[in-house]
Amino acid sequence: MDKALSELIRISKAVGNDSSLVQGGGGNTSVKTADGKYMYIKASGTALKDMSEKAGWRRMRLDSVLSIIEDKSIAGLETQNREIEVVNRLLLACDDQVTGEARPSVEAHLHSFLDKCVIHLHPSAVGAYVNAKNGKAELEKLFRNSGTAIKDVGSPEFLIAPLWVPYTDPGFTLAKKISELVDNYQKQFGKKPEILFLEKHGLFISAGSPDAALRLVRKVIKRCNSKLRQPKAGKIKSVSQEKINDVKRCIHKAFFEATGEHATISYFYDDEIAAFLAQRDAEKMLSAGVLTPDELVYANGPAMWVDRIERANIAKRLTQQIKKGERHGVAFLVKNTGLFVAGKKKIAQTVRDIVAYSAFIRTNAKQMGGICSLNKRERDFINRWEAEAFRKKVASS
Ligand SMILES: [Zn+2]
Repeated sequence: MDKALSELIRISKAVGNDSSLVQGGGGNTSVKTADGKYMYIKASGTALKDMSEKAGWRRMRLDSVLSIIEDKSIAGLETQNREIEVVNRLLLACDDQVTGEARPSVEAHLHSFLDKCVIHLHPSAVGAYVNAKNGKAELEKLFRNSGTAIKDVGSPEFLIAPLWVPYTDPGFTLAKKISELVDNYQKQFGKKPEILFLEKHGLFISAGSPDAALRLVRKVIKRCNSKLRQPKAGKIKSVSQEKINDVKRCIHKAFFEATGEHATISYFYDDEIAAFLAQRDAEKMLSAGVLTPDELVYANGPAMWVDRIERANIAKRLTQQIKKGERHGVAFLVKNTGLFVAGKKKIAQTVRDIVAYSAFIRTNAKQMGGICSLNKRERDFINRWEAEAFRKKVASS
């Protein structure tokens, strides 16, 4: 096995098992080969933790990937056609023995111009800042003197200033935007950024070796967490099996009435979910809207707050969402009871992880000037984006 591939598998497994760092098929990793010709990258929609020698990645020719961003004819295309062309070009840039439907990550071009090892995650600790109105200012304070604290990660420079990336539609536009920001950063600091904070999205780490990249991930998360409120344990109430079954039946019926689907209803109740349910303004926090592209793609937006178990009321709210052209909810946070998720078992666990991630972000972001969510235009782009539909399909298959 190529050394770069074994390094890719190692870093992917190291971060992929922690649902506070990445949920479902989200996030991606890449490692460039020593000769600078190729880049191994995670396949779209597959989970980082599931990567193996045989599956979950693609090998791409680096020069072909880099040329996508520079191609003026692509930049000039209308959005839908452009995104289809980009997916085709990314597939054409693949050079490996992988068969089947595996596509390279849609963020491949973004990885291509960063350092040898790139780790992209959706950590809740980072989300607390990138989804907060004052998040950028708070991060600047937090990392102002970071040079001294993270000197040991291998950077000779005193200052490691993170790069802030304002929210941009994912895919080609995001890659193009980051390539410009990285050029400007390089002019200012004489090197590429190692830490990138993406507004309403997540974190990119770029480093010269797998170990330096993993160390940097841990340092950033630790530093972000140092100012955040962690969910308190001990808020779990006792809930009878009878009550759980009643709620399951009620949600199943309401869901069928609104969507025509007979969905399996899964139940989750743990410290993180209980801590959120115990907050007085939980309902208000959820009403702030969709936080990130992943919350929209994998969980159909924030969980629905349910005060009273009433089939007609739940069905009505779901129907209203559908009528408005929105995705209907699949997660239901029921007061004093727990989280109920409608859908396939495999997706249900991912939805639970996204609900917990979202609860943590909302709880902390509200303390930093308020919760910052995706606007209608941004949500519409994600809803129409073919690459996201593919990602979701892979995750649930
Ligand atoms: Zn992402």
